[in-house]
Amino acid sequence: MYPEYMMESIKKVEATRAERLELVRKHGKMIYPGMKEDERAEVLDNFHPDYKSDARRKVKVGVDKDLILTTEVADMFESYSRIDIDKFDLSKPDFETDVFVIGGGSAGMSAALVANENGSSVLLATKLRLGDANSMMAQGGIQAADGADDSPAIHYLDIVGGGHFDNKPELVEALVQDAPKSIKWLEDLGVMFDREKDGKITVKSGGGTSRNRMHSARDYTGAAICRVLRDEIYNKADKIKYLEYTAAVELILNEKKEVAGAFLYHL
Ligand SMILES: Cc1cc2nc3c(=O)[nH]c(=O)nc-3n(C[C@H](O)[C@H](O)[C@H](O)COP(=O)(O)OP(=O)(O)OC[C@H]3O[C@@H](n4cnc5c(N)ncnc54)[C@H](O)[C@@H]3O)c2cc1C
Repeated sequence: MYPEYMMESIKKVEATRAERLELVRKHGKMIYPGMKEDERAEVLDNFHPDYKSDARRKVKVGVDKDLILTTEVADMFESYSRIDIDKFDLSKPDFETDVFVIGGGSAGMSAALVANENGSSVLLATKLRLGDANSMMAQGGIQAADGADDSPAIHYLDIVGGGHFDNKPELVEALVQDAPKSIKWLEDLGVMFDREKDGKITVKSGGGTSRNRMHSARDYTGAAICRVLRDEIYNKADKIKYLEYTAAVELILNEKKEVAGAFLYHL
């Protein structure tokens, strides 16, 4: 027995079934009429989280004043701090370190490992556990221009085109130049990227790529990468200190207004 609200919907399906069957009989398949411009706008404006008129707004105060952000994020930026500054003595921090990493996704774990490789003391704090991150969920693959028909320059053009020319050029340059080195670094650590029968690394096409440059580990690429990075951090536990279930709730600036630390909240 279906609940009443579903019965309404089922009645609508039944009432229009003959019409749909007729369309299939005539065209050999179901034809869905395209939406007109104003019909599409109405659906987007009323329902799509990126288009609704209240989806984004300007931040009213602080260093990010006038920046247009998702409304929920703007609300958060304008909220009171969780920290009562009088209760903390900044001259006596709980931890001191050369490199402090916030976040235990693939970026944070890689940063911690590379900082350690380069001789720095490292502290990583992450909100949940190491690898509890978007990175763990990535499936399709990771892009790097290391194929014979590819180059960082072509990768660069694909990215700025895909980004509608809004990207920061220096960041795109760093990404395309470092990507092949990163794949090699991950492989050396133990990530098993897919390979062809002849041993060549498999490269697949991906969204916005004019060359095949997606490196995959079946359909769990992010999990494969995170698992290896996390193991590597566990292996170096004597050198890389990590705090789990520990969120950064406020950043601390030094006298030059550079970020020099954070208030951490143990969940
Ligand atoms: C389902 C899915 C599929 C995807 N597929 C692909 C793909 O195929 N290819 C691709 O290139 N990209 C893909 N992406 C995007 C890709 O996964 C992300 O861009 C990438 O993993 C981001 O890595 P990151 O380390 O910067 O961030 P995250 O992996 O998000 O890590 C951020 C970390 O910071 C922690 N954190 C956040 N705030 C705080 C705080 N205040 N204090 C302490 N810790 C904090 C989080 O808990 C988390 O551990 C996919 C994403 C998703 C969700």
